[in-house]
Amino acid sequence: MKNKVTMPDQDKSDRVIIVGAGPVGLFAAVRLVNFGIPVTLIDKIPTVSNDMRASTIHPPSLEMMAPYGITKKILETGIKVPQWQIRNHTTGDKVVFDLNYISDETEYPYRVQFEQSKICEIINDLLERHPLSDICYGTEFIAFSQDKNGVSVKVRQGNQENTIHGRFLIGADGGSSAVRQQLGVEFKGSIYPERTVLVTTTFPFDLHIDELSSVSYCWSKNGNFSLLQLPDLWRASLYFPENMSPDEALAEEHVQQQLKEICPIDGPFEILDKRVYRVHQRIVNQYNHDRVILAGDAAHLNSPSGGMGMNGGLHDAHNLTEKLNIIWSQGNIDNHNKLLDLYSRQRKPIAEEQIIKQADENRKRMTEKNYQKRQKSLEALQVIEKDPVMCKAFLMKSSMFEGLRKAEEII
Ligand SMILES: Cc1cc2nc3c(=O)[nH]c(=O)nc-3n(C[C@H](O)[C@H](O)[C@H](O)COP(=O)(O)OP(=O)(O)OC[C@H]3O[C@@H](n4cnc5c(N)ncnc54)[C@H](O)[C@@H]3O)c2cc1C
Repeated sequence: MKNKVTMPDQDKSDRVIIVGAGPVGLFAAVRLVNFGIPVTLIDKIPTVSNDMRASTIHPPSLEMMAPYGITKKILETGIKVPQWQIRNHTTGDKVVFDLNYISDETEYPYRVQFEQSKICEIINDLLERHPLSDICYGTEFIAFSQDKNGVSVKVRQGNQENTIHGRFLIGADGGSSAVRQQLGVEFKGSIYPERTVLVTTTFPFDLHIDELSSVSYCWSKNGNFSLLQLPDLWRASLYFPENMSPDEALAEEHVQQQLKEICPIDGPFEILDKRVYRVHQRIVNQYNHDRVILAGDAAHLNSPSGGMGMNGGLHDAHNLTEKLNIIWSQGNIDNHNKLLDLYSRQRKPIAEEQIIKQADENRKRMTEKNYQKRQKSLEALQVIEKDPVMCKAFLMKSSMFEGLRKAEEII
């Protein structure tokens, strides 16, 4: 992979500086350069991100990425998932949600299972070929200052430090955002008590478990797990036994035993990767701070249940860059606060009420251990599944359309 290791251009100042070449920073960059706005994008990692986290792309994100050819590339190898399910793995009882119910609303009535790292690669390639983009990996954000003309950003590459200038700074530098920390704003919320074990395996669960969807959220006797298919792989998120240390939970023997509880096979599972993670739900009070704007995980974090964090961040990038384009094309860059306030007013309530809240409800439903309560929520979902009107409404919300439409109503 060819990636620039040069220092960002110090002579330019008529540009947007983006910190963080995760999916959100990259998507913001590709949108801006296509609007004709020069971008310098920096990331402290040495090359395009190979982050393993997100695997689910929802229909609105596919719509937003389509004009740049990103969706076409994703669909070349990504797995289309028109139906996803919640199942009681012990009894086989399940509810199956079919996105065909929303086929009158979108050209993409399915989720796509595709790695976050591959989205980053696709967008990175587009940017490397674009004359208005300047991507610098191996370049760490250190500090910023801002005044009525623009922003100055101190960056470090190895032992060398430099200051670069731009009109706006987008902090898309993830959950531990240094940009957010320097803004000094509170990242209000909490950390979930449980840990989760994330295992990647080549084992084809769909060939061994009857009627399994490529996206399946499951209750088992002792906990819960999810099985998510990716091109050539499956990702299993496994419950973390309360009395174990991370090392014990990750021990080969224990992981093999947990996988065998899901699907009893004779030999061992081929495991490509295993790790433990813990998640937060948090949000800042305001996304824009004059010329410095937060997007994606830097602004909000949620449980991965339902696959909405990266998607929500892509929607932030889409909304924010639309505002920056208007500001830029009006040629009145100094009069920006009204539109950037609107970005924050549109996106923050959606993150709170649609993404964080929905992900929290999904997590609560799946971590429930009481059999009767599980059965009750399964039966309630089966009522929704069988009613076309309720089912469409449920899918519009879980596919993130409802949040986007609510945001459009905020003026
Ligand atoms: C197990 C798991 C599964 C998930 N699955 C899904 C899913 O299926 N669907 C979904 O929508 N979401 C999912 N998510 C959430 C998703 O991964 C995140 O929401 C997404 O990565 C956020 O993207 P981002 O670009 O905002 O931040 P990040 O992906 O964290 O990128 C931030 C970038 O900023 C860089 N950076 C940080 N600090 C600096 C600095 N000081 N200077 C320069 N660069 C810096 C980092 O190197 C990084 O490359 C999942 C999360 C987890 C934990």
